[in-house]
Amino acid sequence: MAMTIIADECTACGDCKPVCPTKSILVRKGVFTIDARTCTECEDDSDEPQCILVCPVDNCIVPLAA
Ligand code: SF4
Ligand code: SF4
Repeated sequence: MAMTIIADECTACGDCKPVCPTKSILVRKGVFTIDARTCTECEDDSDEPQCILVCPVDNCIVPLAA
């Protein structure tokens, strides 16, 4: 499973990128996305997704719909 960033909610603050243990948060032309191929939901590293912990916008980072 992986998380995804809701583009309409994201303010491009950049806070999520440095806390990702798998370097899955990408930014291209100022648009932040999560690489679903490498996002682990932080399972191997912590109890909860670190990107969600630091994101200042509620419901901006959510589980990727299957
Ligand atoms: S859930 Fe964890 S591994 Fe996935 S993008 Fe967020 S910080 Fe990175
Ligand atoms: S922390 Fe949230 S608002 Fe900031 S860039 Fe990441 S997803 Fe967007």
